[in-house]
Amino acid sequence: MHLRPLHWRPALVAALLLPTRLPAAPAAPALMTDNPLLTESTLPYQLPPFDRIKDTDYAPAYEAGMVAERREVDAIAQNPEAPTFDNTIVALERSGRLLWRVDHIFSNLNDANTDAVMLQVQSDLAPKLAAQRDVIHLNRALFARIESVYDRRAQLGLDPESLRLVERYHRDFVRAGARLGEADQARLRALNAELASLEAAFGQNVLKETNASAVTIDDRAALAGLSDAEIAAAAAAAREEKKDGAFVLRLQNTSGQPVLASLANRALRERIQQISVDRCRHGGPYDNRATVLRIVRLRAERAALLGYPSHAAYEIEDQNAGTVDAVNRFLAQLAPPAVANARREAADIQATIDAEHGGFALAPWDWDLYAEKVRRARYAFDESALRPYFEFNRVLLDGVFYAAQRLYGITFKERHDLPVYHPDVRIFEVFNEDGSPLALFLVDPYARPSKRGGAWMAGYVDQSALLGTRPVVGIHLNIPKPPPGEAALLTFDEVLTAFHETGHGLHGMFSHVRYPMFSGTDVPRDFVEYPSQVNEMWAVWPEVTAHYARHYRTGEPMPPALLEKMLATQKFNQGFATTEYLAATLVDQAWHQLAPDAVPADEEAFEAAALRRAGMDFPPVPPRYHSTYFNHVFSGEEYSAGYYSYIWAEVLDADSVEWFKAHGGLTRANGDRFRATVLSRGDSEDTSGEFRAFTGHAPDVGPLLRRRGLEPAAGPARP
Ligand SMILES: [Zn+2]
Repeated sequence: MHLRPLHWRPALVAALLLPTRLPAAPAAPALMTDNPLLTESTLPYQLPPFDRIKDTDYAPAYEAGMVAERREVDAIAQNPEAPTFDNTIVALERSGRLLWRVDHIFSNLNDANTDAVMLQVQSDLAPKLAAQRDVIHLNRALFARIESVYDRRAQLGLDPESLRLVERYHRDFVRAGARLGEADQARLRALNAELASLEAAFGQNVLKETNASAVTIDDRAALAGLSDAEIAAAAAAAREEKKDGAFVLRLQNTSGQPVLASLANRALRERIQQISVDRCRHGGPYDNRATVLRIVRLRAERAALLGYPSHAAYEIEDQNAGTVDAVNRFLAQLAPPAVANARREAADIQATIDAEHGGFALAPWDWDLYAEKVRRARYAFDESALRPYFEFNRVLLDGVFYAAQRLYGITFKERHDLPVYHPDVRIFEVFNEDGSPLALFLVDPYARPSKRGGAWMAGYVDQSALLGTRPVVGIHLNIPKPPPGEAALLTFDEVLTAFHETGHGLHGMFSHVRYPMFSGTDVPRDFVEYPSQVNEMWAVWPEVTAHYARHYRTGEPMPPALLEKMLATQKFNQGFATTEYLAATLVDQAWHQLAPDAVPADEEAFEAAALRRAGMDFPPVPPRYHSTYFNHVFSGEEYSAGYYSYIWAEVLDADSVEWFKAHGGLTRANGDRFRATVLSRGDSEDTSGEFRAFTGHAPDVGPLLRRRGLEPAAGPARP
């Protein structure tokens, strides 16, 4: 009865914010009997019948799904028989399947191929789905049955996965407030409602202030350093704002702004940086300081109501990290070497400034421009020289699929007989080494207006032995589509992304669990990026690279010197990147580790003090986000107390990459081991145990430090 988890994909904030006025769904509803969402698909692997689904099918199918789920859950709660594992816990796992199916198909297609009607369905449905969760979680009769099974769980003779399922249901209900009395539940609902509106207001303030902070320049000469295309874009932005003849530089969400890497005018750089870091902080209609303090206070109160010392303790409890202490220890290990490396990079940059007789001390608005000069001097390297060796079809078939075949013995056979939701989508049937069918794998490579940005993997059907389902997963990329007849030549980043998303895909396809709750990528937020990041290693594994990186016209292999140069640049500027990320992470933790009565009155002073305490107050490198525009943690709950997740998963990844390298790399034995211990297990076991079963040890931060060039021993001497 759980809905599609969102934790491994960026939130859909953009899609929710964009439309103001959309056409309503056509009034005449299709006959319910014609609605293909209402019945299980009869296609292979229960592939959704994409060719038969109409926009008008979604809203009635959601309604039917919610009604059915409520009926099924009520039947469980009101069952006159005594509660058992089967009639309560397993019954809950079987409940809500219609809603699950509709929600997965709709949400995936809304990301991959949306339109105005679908966006409207999304905003209409979101509050109803949230309310349905609350109704179920706060159903006292239902929770009494779950608790009864939970209390007797040790005597029921359950296998480990079933035992874990009981504990999981119990924990999820308790965390949602099922144990509270009437008054406290009412207080919880009020807190949730106020937080939801504060978070929405926070995000809208950031969007409005960021738009309002665009910098207008009248004099083209002030833009020296920008490319002609960038200047043309600035002129076009000015015309949109009826400022013909001027130039408008728009801001992005982060503290740093991309134009700072090329703008020669130092005063203008300083102005842009100051405007960026002052957003929502210094008065005006979009000031978020009071909102930050109120959100922090309410989250801390809610945690206290639920029996936790802080919001961070509540959030991290069911993550791979497990405890606030573990996260704090981890950050304390990373912060000093990151800042030390940023200081070394700053010294290199200052030397370049001095060599040019700049006559000033490095400031945040100088970093990108001068780092780029250092990079060019150190690595003479033009990334576009790589692209002819990265033709999409070769990358996919001879690179991504080839690596998977060498590791896991699986094969990919394209199927042209199955319906797709867009003509560019390709479907592959995947087979195990013994020829047994494993999964369907959808590949949706190209950018288009109906698709959201970025890259992601999505499950259409989850593997579950209980339900007898096999996986249908899709990867979605945003490669610019070449004109007809021309080859799609990728950047190296796009190559890595194809390996990365397929890594999520393998995690979904190899899933071998009983209960849908634990299937595939339904794992903690700080664990889910681990298998996908590991899969990136094969993009540059010599045997794999030699197999796919061939010139798209001549078939010549890529010169190794070219690849080596490209790899060498990967460690460049990592002190800066790690420090700005960790600083934001520390700010996130500092706020969310507070008890309700410890919330301060001064937002800016608190943040500065938190950075100082952690040794991360290095002025040339500000946090990637200051609190007042830190959407990840304040415009929703998704990454609150969880911004650390990205680098936590990267520790697991870097450590595992070293394991592969130490054990012979690309072999069937290594692949089988990774599949057996991690990729097939989903959340059916404790994820820390999965990592240990694969590597044989607890995670070590050393490999990550080495990868990012952050080892303390690196010293100031550089080539
Ligand atoms: Zn990912």
